[in-house]
Formats: sequence, C-alpha cells, structure tokens
Amino acid sequence: MIEFRNVSKRYDGSFAVDDLSFTVAEGAIGVLIGTSGSGKSTALRMVNRLIDPSSGTIHLSGTTVEQLPPVKLRRRIGYVIQSVGLFPHWTVERNIGTVPHLLGWPKAKIRDRVAQLLDLLRLDANAVRHKYPHQLSGGQQQRVGVARALAADPDVLLMDEPFGALDPITRTALQDEIAFIHQQTKKTILLVTHDIEEALKLGDTIALLDRGKLVQAGTPRDLLTAPANDFVRDFFGGANLGLRLLEIETAATVMRPEKRIDGERNEAEAIPASMSLHRALSLMVARGVDRLPVVDDKGAPQGTLHLADLAKR
Ligand code: ADP
Ligand code: MG
Repeated sequence: MIEFRNVSKRYDGSFAVDDLSFTVAEGAIGVLIGTSGSGKSTALRMVNRLIDPSSGTIHLSGTTVEQLPPVKLRRRIGYVIQSVGLFPHWTVERNIGTVPHLLGWPKAKIRDRVAQLLDLLRLDANAVRHKYPHQLSGGQQQRVGVARALAADPDVLLMDEPFGALDPITRTALQDEIAFIHQQTKKTILLVTHDIEEALKLGDTIALLDRGKLVQAGTPRDLLTAPANDFVRDFFGGANLGLRLLEIETAATVMRPEKRIDGERNEAEAIPASMSLHRALSLMVARGVDRLPVVDDKGAPQGTLHLADLAKR
C-alpha cells in the first residue's frame, strides 16, 4: 500500500505538491495524471525519498518512508523513468543485476534471476544478456529498465512516464506487458503519465492533479461518469468520452442473459465476456450484425450483446 497523507512540497514559497492525500491499495495500480508541471514527478519522487516533503507523511505498508534510510528504502522500491537510466558501459545482465549485486546475492542466483526477468519481459536472454544498451532498440531498453527495477523483487514499483519516449505501437506493447507483469506479481505500482488512454487502461485508481493539487481521485469509471467538476470532465472526456467509456467496459457488463439468438446461435462468431465494448462495437460494424453471442473463457455461452444497448451508453 502507498498512502500520501496531506503531503506538500514547497519551493521558494510556491507549491509543487499541495496537500495531497491519495491511497494506492496493496497490489493495485495507482496513476498520477495531469498536465506538465502539475506535480506528478515531485509526488512520485517523495515515495522513494529522492525528494523529501515539506510537510505530510507517506506510508508504505505499515511504515512511513521517513523511518527508513533512503538507501534501504530504494532497495524495496523499483523505479523506472522515461530516459531508462541504464548504465551505458554495463551489459544488460549487469544492469539488471545492479541491486541484487548490491544486496550480495551469489552470482548464480543473479544469473538465474536475470534469465527469469528477461523471460518475463519477453526478451531473448541468449540474444541480449551480453549486449550493451546502445545495441538495443528503445523498446528493448525500456524492457531492460523494467526488468532492472523488478530485479530484487521490490514491494513497490514507481514509474515516471516510462513509455513517454516510445512510438505508439511499442508503447502499447509495453503497457500490455506491465498489465501482464502486474497480474503475475501483484506488485503495488504507482505510475505517472500524462496519457489519458494509458491511465484508463492501467489504473485501478487515478489521481488527477492540477497545479500541485488533487482535483479528483477514483476509478477510471468514476472519473469518466462522475467527474467532480468541469476540469475533470474536460480533461478525460472531451469529444471522446463515449469511446473511452466503451474502452473500459466489457461485454460482461452490458450483455443480456439470453443464451441464444432467435434459436440460430453461431458459436464461431461469439466474443469473450472480457472483450471491451469498443472492440465489440468495431466487430459488429465490421460484420454488419446488431447482436453478438458472448462466451466465457471456456467457450460456454453467457449471454448476448445488443447494439441497441451499446448505443444507449
Ligand atoms: P510534472 O511531473 O507533473 O510535470 P513536477 O513535479 O516536475 O511536475 O513539477 C511541479 C512544479 O514544481 C513545476 O512547476 C516545477 O517547475 C516545480 N519544481 C519541480 N522541481 C523543482 C525544483 N527543484 N525547484 C523549484 N521548482 C521545482
Ligand atoms: Mg514529470
């Protein structure tokens, strides 16, 4: 768990972060979002004490961060930044093994851990472990950066615009990777981004900041359907509000319980209950149908999705 309690950071009389209270539950992904200069990075960096707050406290599963010496604290917290920060003269293997090495792990254990992490990040261990950062693509470097942050199995992962410099396709792939890793490891993650789609896709809880102040915190659905004010509405909604809602909701949430369509159910055309409404809508349009059978992950009929019900939303 990560909890900010009335946290402020002041520079020369102006607040970079102003009385922030926000909690990321154990094992959840929290997102700090806002325009440039809204205080996201400052808030994040107070968690691993790269910056100390002017007032307020930050709690990490039972302790406050100020109770832990920064070096010890940072070994419990993985940190991924946009510019990766890999050591250029170290191989991939050595980069990933940085913290385990500092912790005095035996060489064989480090080697195994590196192989395991490269596998988790879908990098070919034999092909990349002895390479240097400049020999890798931007996406591969960022994967190595994530692997390095996870190396000593930290309790918490902090990510500051980790995919900001990547092209859209690589970025989407890495977002999927983070969702997968999160599913596998159940780490508590705090992610900073200014990308709305990224926040809605990955966040269990999202905090929208503006000029250092928390404007609203809640689930993606809260922010889209119950914005606290016009600022929130404009930030998340704009012209795309309808599409974004379809993106975060799944077929399971709106299907009708009918398990056959007028007696002529075609299983080949069924969609999984976990499919986003956005994708389901695209499929309906592409196939020229107004209903789709919905099945669970074992292929058992669950219900029927109606175009009319999507349009209502
Ligand atoms: P974000 O990550 O949301 O873009 P930052 O947390 O980096 O925002 O910065 C928030 C505000 O605090 C900005 O106005 C920035 O100029 C100011 N700020 C950040 N770091 C410092 C510093 N070391 N000294 C003075 N002002 C700072
Ligand atoms: Mg920043």
